[in-house]
Amino acid sequence: MQHTYNNNSIDAFKSAVDKSKRIVGFTGAGISTESGIPDYRSKGGIWDKFQPVYFEEFISDENKRLLYWQRKQELWKDLSNASPNKGHMFFKNLYDEGKLAGLITQNIDGLHEKSGLAEELMVKLHGTNLEVTCIDCGFTVPSEEVFEGLDLEQGVPICQKCKGLLKPNTISFGQQLRGEDLERADSLSISCDLMIVVGSTLIVQPASSFPSIAKENGALLAIITLSETPLDCDADFVFHLKIEEFLHLIYPGPPALV
Ligand SMILES: [Zn+2]
Repeated sequence: MQHTYNNNSIDAFKSAVDKSKRIVGFTGAGISTESGIPDYRSKGGIWDKFQPVYFEEFISDENKRLLYWQRKQELWKDLSNASPNKGHMFFKNLYDEGKLAGLITQNIDGLHEKSGLAEELMVKLHGTNLEVTCIDCGFTVPSEEVFEGLDLEQGVPICQKCKGLLKPNTISFGQQLRGEDLERADSLSISCDLMIVVGSTLIVQPASSFPSIAKENGALLAIITLSETPLDCDADFVFHLKIEEFLHLIYPGPPALV
């Protein structure tokens, strides 16, 4: 396996995409950085500014609950202004061509949804910030209905149906991934003929096991991410590039006017 790209590997990747009938995407934070979504774990990122709040603390501690909502309110400003980039559109185009069997994402930013990808194709391992849900009765509303005009000095929002606790529909620290999502991701990984990983370091488990499952079940594996990953050795194609740089290589546009 070669870890650098050249014309041959670019042509081979394009040919693999052409031949594939059941492509599954797997995306992480790196696909969204070019949409202006901050990398929350980097220095100066949102985790530096706010301590993470564990799910148990959210339930039991009023102050932690407020802290959690303050962070989500700040995050919402970034998310509501962000638009899908060429990386998200790459998967949307595969979907339009009838080649995309599914998309597994670690992202909660909603940009795949905004690109027009069908809901039923997506497995959102860490949930989504586009919805707010009641952790008591399950009543769910679009996030903008909660965040627009939200004044946390009046207290955190509560469910209009049952007065239970509302929470953005994401998986918090200390919360298990949903079994149903893991099963769907597993079955997509087993049945795909090409898995394309974009912008994930493939370190966080169990999410990162899916590319391995795809490979073990006979799929080709492509990894397009800036840094090295533990699965680079097993992959058929590895491109250490930002997604937009990569797409420019495989689908070069006309030269820019000067
Ligand atoms: Zn409720």
